[in-house]
Amino acid sequence: ANSANQIAAGEVVERPASVVKELVENSLDAGAKHIDITIEGNGVPLIRVRDDGSGIGRADLPLAVIRHATSKITQIEDLDHLQTLGFRGEALPSIASVSHFEISSRPEYEEAGLSFTLKGGEEEGLTEIGCPVGTSVTVRDLFFNTPARLKFLKSTATEFGLISDTVGRIALAHPEIAISLTHPQQVVLQTTGRGDLREAIGAVIGYDLARQLIPIQMSDEKWRLEGFISPPNLVRSSKQAQFFMVNGRIIRSPLLSRALAEGYHTLIPAKHHPIAVLHVSLPPSEYDVNVHPTKMDVRFKDEAGLSQFIREAVNAALLRSKP
Ligand code: ADP
Ligand code: MG
Repeated sequence: ANSANQIAAGEVVERPASVVKELVENSLDAGAKHIDITIEGNGVPLIRVRDDGSGIGRADLPLAVIRHATSKITQIEDLDHLQTLGFRGEALPSIASVSHFEISSRPEYEEAGLSFTLKGGEEEGLTEIGCPVGTSVTVRDLFFNTPARLKFLKSTATEFGLISDTVGRIALAHPEIAISLTHPQQVVLQTTGRGDLREAIGAVIGYDLARQLIPIQMSDEKWRLEGFISPPNLVRSSKQAQFFMVNGRIIRSPLLSRALAEGYHTLIPAKHHPIAVLHVSLPPSEYDVNVHPTKMDVRFKDEAGLSQFIREAVNAALLRSKP
């Protein structure tokens, strides 16, 4: 079972940033209002994610980290299903199989918490501990038993950059949750959780920049668009500062990126890109999701219609912002 976990780990856990993503998504699933992330170095020495979510009951804690004996994929048609659900039940066992792993948790209805530790997927101990309601997962020595993975990692700057990018995207997708990212004793990113998107943008890409952004909003029977875009004089040489969420999920979308740029017409110079944080809502029947553990691609049914909608929304926002 452990080698199966390590193989799965190659799929789910590509690098420290993917561990962070999986752990924070679990905190979101658990209904956390506060999520605190601590990183040491490039994430290999330490990744810790603490939340104040539902916690895990005593009986369930070990099960959460042990691969389900009976796989949920029993028939091939389930694969379609799996795509929309993500890789269910894979993340914690995979991460635990390639690290020194500790999970402590307490649900509200229990007096004491439990802490479960594993090394390379082998159980080390299960002990009762005092802890606040919620869950804390600590991952140390990531990939200590998979040297090939370890060798593939880039510099601390690159790996931490990817982590902070991941956390930033999640913070923009969830302005209603207070998220902090700490790297060598320094808070690198912190949102208030007040639900104010402009404020969250400030925390992620800078308050000065956030203040200059233009609100964008449009809706019709099919689509709803909400967020912020930059004025034409505030552009970047990369698309790094473009963030798209579809029904609350972070996605990558060349289509949205193109439609956004087209909305500016000739207002922005060639090879430059607007800054944008766009939340798009649409009926689930309007798109297909292709989930890969490290990214999420969406195929929209009515690409032309959506592009047109985005262009119009951008036009309207730019017009409205004219002094
Ligand atoms: P999945 O999220 O796909 O169910 P995971 O391996 O990521 O699989 O997590 C396994 C299970 O452990 C979850 O289904 C959930 O019940 C529990 N769990 C993990 N992290 C947390 C958390 N932060 N708070 C509460 N429960 C959690
Ligand atoms: Mg999960």
